[in-house]
Amino acid sequence: MRFDLSGQAAGQYRGGPHPCIRYNPGMAARQFEAYCQRTPAHEVAHYVIDCLHPEKSIKPHGPQWQELMRAFGLEPDRCHQYDLTNVRQRRQRRFTYRCACQEHQLSTTRHNRIQYRGMQYHCIKCGKVLRPTSDD
Ligand SMILES: [Zn+2]
Ligand SMILES: [Zn+2]
Repeated sequence: MRFDLSGQAAGQYRGGPHPCIRYNPGMAARQFEAYCQRTPAHEVAHYVIDCLHPEKSIKPHGPQWQELMRAFGLEPDRCHQYDLTNVRQRRQRRFTYRCACQEHQLSTTRHNRIQYRGMQYHCIKCGKVLRPTSDD
């Protein structure tokens, strides 16, 4: 078991000769209760199904897995949807800016400072002012 996932996946189960469950500690920290209630059960259910059906002829979120989730007392929703929507809303949009040497991805906060407060950001490498690219 590992705690090294990041990004939008709440958890991940890998089968094979060395089965491994990975958890996303960042996501667990953001919504501890919901996470602990569901994600471990979700991934453990994959593991149990994998052990019961080593031939791998069944779907990862198929009826067997769903039945097991209900046995845990949980709704068998497949793709951690509660996590995905939440993370997407919290994630800041990125804006592409350009200097003389490269592209820069600016956060919404910085973008707004430039657009509405007239602030300027300079590239550390070339020292030029960052300008928005045309597609933004
Ligand atoms: Zn799953
Ligand atoms: Zn530059």
